[in-house]
Amino acid sequence: MKVINNRVYLDGKATNEYVCDCCGDRVSSLCCEDVYGEEKQICSECAEGFDYAMEKGTKDLYLIYLNDYLTVSKFAEDYNLSESVARLIIEQGRIEALK
Ligand SMILES: [Zn+2]
Repeated sequence: MKVINNRVYLDGKATNEYVCDCCGDRVSSLCCEDVYGEEKQICSECAEGFDYAMEKGTKDLYLIYLNDYLTVSKFAEDYNLSESVARLIIEQGRIEALK
């Protein structure tokens, strides 16, 4: 298996599968989204997570994580985010909090 521009190729042939830049899952479609200033091809589940973070504010989410959680996985579970999305949100929130 090979991945070129997020597209999955098998035995040199393009498949209808794409790899999400964020979670790495193989999905049938991706959307292009600005993820904290970086253009990324991500799956709809990750896009939903980022929309939620934008709405709620990454700094607030980071502070909730910092005060109430020991692990990213539990935080991700409670907020219905994939772990990779949760990690990016926390990372971004930390930057926001330090400003
Ligand atoms: Zn994803």
